[in-house]
Amino acid sequence: MKVLKFGGTSVASPQNIRKLVKIVSQKSQTSKVTVVVSAFGGVTDALIGLSELAQSGNFSYQEAFETLKKRHQSTVEELLLEGEQKEECFLLVESLFEELKDILHGVFLVRELSPKTLDFISGFGERLSAYIIAQAFIQHGEKANFVDSRKLIVTDEEFGNAKVDFSISNSNILRHFANSQGIQVFAGFISSSKTGQSTTLGRGGSDYTAAILAAALQADVLEIWTDVSGMLTADPRKVKKAFPIAQISYQEALELSYFGAKVLYPPSIQPVYQKNIPILIKNTFEPEAEGTLISTDAKLAERPMRGWSAIKNIAWLNLSGNGMVGITGISMRLFGALGR
Ligand code: ADP
Ligand code: ASP
Ligand code: MG
Repeated sequence: MKVLKFGGTSVASPQNIRKLVKIVSQKSQTSKVTVVVSAFGGVTDALIGLSELAQSGNFSYQEAFETLKKRHQSTVEELLLEGEQKEECFLLVESLFEELKDILHGVFLVRELSPKTLDFISGFGERLSAYIIAQAFIQHGEKANFVDSRKLIVTDEEFGNAKVDFSISNSNILRHFANSQGIQVFAGFISSSKTGQSTTLGRGGSDYTAAILAAALQADVLEIWTDVSGMLTADPRKVKKAFPIAQISYQEALELSYFGAKVLYPPSIQPVYQKNIPILIKNTFEPEAEGTLISTDAKLAERPMRGWSAIKNIAWLNLSGNGMVGITGISMRLFGALGR
């Protein structure tokens, strides 16, 4: 089994979705494949933005809502062939946007946007994209179906950054795959709590959805398909000469991503690292490029440094003074205060 995750840019337009369908269909000739997709590029930001507009009592959220709805409708229009399936897809889009409209109206009326409501709203992007993309696979002649990850991935109720209950989620995933055939197209990023509330795994969390699936299924590889040809030596938006790192260890990749290399959501490494499943980072727009392989036996770098990354908005706290010398419990008080 290979688990392939496609990020926002890779699914941002009908042309890009066709590229994805081609990549996955080729792989599915020789291996079982599972697909995880993000919301269409920019959609999660747009959903959060219009929720905030509604919360602040700004009517213009309705315009932003209509733009978002039209974007999904025109993707269906361009992507799918005329027929019953396309009509059903339009109906699904219509009913999800009706649901979203009601919730936003509620937010607008009470001027309140709780983390729980925001999680419910921000998950619409993946529910839409995964459903639409599953239909594209079917029209391409594949056996495929949409999976609402909220049914399988169970978390606590830390809305916005929910923690996964691996024992429940893993058995749900295994049960699902024991009873399903064809390409399963998962909505990334979304999950649900034990009481059935919608939760999300944090911004960039579709990588994590894919990692959870890969680990549960003992996949041969977790492939992260994105808009750059691998993990690069630096952020390409800041360093023009950054180039792909061919091989890197889990530890190094974790450090780079934790400290700012956005290409991989840091929590995604742990589940696959534990099972020794390699991660391959690939470019949807240049599939022939080698990409980056993250594994335990990554060759040592030729240069003393693999790469560098940077994070903004850091606070440096320096606590010093004679009154601390020999006083028991200083560290506990400092870290306790920071923790609180
Ligand atoms: P996706 O939507 O596919 O998940 P992301 O936008 O989350 O894609 O991550 C890919 C982006 O991460 C790249 O377009 C690049 O601008 C940025 N990035 C920052 N640092 C790095 C790095 N060291 N290597 C590769 N990409 C990086
Ligand atoms: N769509 C979500 C986000 O923008 C998750 C993801 O793309 O990984 O954060
Ligand atoms: Mg990402």
